[in-house]
Amino acid sequence: SAISKDAAVAQAVRDEVDIDDEPITKFKDLATQNIIHPNIVRTLTDSMGFETMTEVQAKTINAAIKGTDIIAQARTGTGKTLAFLLPILQNIINVDPDLAREQRGRRGPRTTADDIRALIISPTRELAEQIAEEAKRLVKNTGVIVQTAVGGTQKSAGLRAIQREGCHILVGTPGRLKDILSDPYSRVEAPDLSAMVLDEADRLMDQGFWPEIQEINRMLPTPAEKDRQTLMFSATVAKEVVDLVRSTLKPGFQFVKCVNDN
Ligand code: ADP
Ligand code: MG
Repeated sequence: SAISKDAAVAQAVRDEVDIDDEPITKFKDLATQNIIHPNIVRTLTDSMGFETMTEVQAKTINAAIKGTDIIAQARTGTGKTLAFLLPILQNIINVDPDLAREQRGRRGPRTTADDIRALIISPTRELAEQIAEEAKRLVKNTGVIVQTAVGGTQKSAGLRAIQREGCHILVGTPGRLKDILSDPYSRVEAPDLSAMVLDEADRLMDQGFWPEIQEINRMLPTPAEKDRQTLMFSATVAKEVVDLVRSTLKPGFQFVKCVNDN
């Protein structure tokens, strides 16, 4: 109402805050505010048909783009995948702006510019493949390359694709990711890794994957050396899991808890 609006303005003046500085909830506003590249927002709105961010997306995307480590809890089906894919993609483009455009015919021998920037670890092959599918839709009009490394598939075939085409975002299961990264003949390295995602973190821990995740961590430049970001998303976040990962998180990490179904 007019009265509460006036009260809000009065309060804003006292607090010296911008009354229009409300949280962004529309994907198109992420483009107009120069937070996400317009090509990506166009893919989201025009080809994926998304308009409004879900709660977990609205609460995490901005902070994640700024490099903040995040532990986010939100129910199944609330769009956690996009909540980590969008910041990862935008941060890759921030480093290498040419990747915001599709680069047809660029594929030749891979270059160091094709090195892995983000690793997404998922507890199951099916979930990893779903994440990769959504990631591929999202990067469609960009030069960013998504690959998978999951168990139950031929290791050599997956490796060949990475070696031939390059890979900016690698989605996989813990065992296979560890295999590939530790194999000196795989020539898959991640010296410029800037983000690591633990999706369904509780399931990863429940299924006993913490040792593999730690081994993967040891094979990568340490977060401190490279200012690497850690993003953890899960439907539930057990206290034991937070205790386990806490020491690997950067100071100022955020714990975002969503209670709604959207
Ligand atoms: P979660 O990982 O939280 O279980 P998903 O990331 O798998 O959820 O998303 C569930 C479904 O919602 C997917 O089909 C996804 O494409 C869709 N989705 C994600 N974000 C949005 C959005 N902002 N608006 C509409 N649909 C969305
Ligand atoms: Mg999910």
